[in-house]
Amino acid sequence: MAIQWFPGHMAKARRQVTEKLKLIDIVYELVDARLPLSSRNPMIDEIVSVKPRIILLNKADMADPRITKEWLSYFKEKGMHALPLDAQSGKGLKEILPLSKLVLKEKLDRLEAKGVRPRAIRALIIGIPNVGKSTLINRLAKKNMAKTGDRPGVTTAQQWVKVGKEIELLDTPGILWPKFEDQLVGYKLAVTGAIKDTILNLQDITVYALNFLRENYPERLKERYGLEEIPEEIVPLFDEIANRRGCMMSGGMVDYDKTSELVLREIRSEKLGALSFERPGEEI
Ligand code: GDP
Repeated sequence: MAIQWFPGHMAKARRQVTEKLKLIDIVYELVDARLPLSSRNPMIDEIVSVKPRIILLNKADMADPRITKEWLSYFKEKGMHALPLDAQSGKGLKEILPLSKLVLKEKLDRLEAKGVRPRAIRALIIGIPNVGKSTLINRLAKKNMAKTGDRPGVTTAQQWVKVGKEIELLDTPGILWPKFEDQLVGYKLAVTGAIKDTILNLQDITVYALNFLRENYPERLKERYGLEEIPEEIVPLFDEIANRRGCMMSGGMVDYDKTSELVLREIRSEKLGALSFERPGEEI
């Protein structure tokens, strides 16, 4: 669901997250493994600085595994804890508890030394819309309790969800806004379906996507659309794809919107394979 983020909404979202932080021991920050920086909230480091955190690179099943490895090294070098995850299938879920214990070891040891009876680790999931927060909560809770979709502004009593014996999770995630004011970030978020196509121009998103594929995954682009060579200019590239796929209007003109919808649909449904839209070291 697309949310319009106005300054008032951002302030409120931030306030809600800050309130939740008081209740928990650890933050699970969900990012999209295909664009781990663009899918983060721009102020996240500052907002959650008071709590230990694990970054979960979700939708790792859709990301280029080679580049996910680079991201794991990137976060490690920065002294941050990160794990790849596929919340949909549950792959990677088992790693969360041991890493949480490791991250919280000092605190847990301190409590134990004081003779405090061990209790479950309390956790909060945070992330931008559509990154998979509800899917992860449902997976961890092993039942379908969190509604998918975001409802900012709806305040409900905090509920805890038990995850085994050792973790308790707040049942409503912290929802923060993405860095959409940067146009390139906006295109990446649109291509991966994190923001609605209607927010940006459909053909512009596709121009970004096709140029990205040309530069980073040329063989897949050629193979998918049966191209012998990739035309250097963007319009002939659109035209060739449209011709091959019959995206034409009456009179034989290319239907650029239809071509755009087709290309974006195919990228999102992994017809061009697992793709990563950013890698460490690139400017964003
Ligand atoms: P939320 O807005 O952060 O709560 O995101 P949702 O949990 O509603 O997920 C958004 C979409 O991403 C849904 O269509 C999910 O099925 C899908 N999704 C979530 N996690 C994964 C994942 O790990 N892999 C894949 N392929 N899809 C996922």
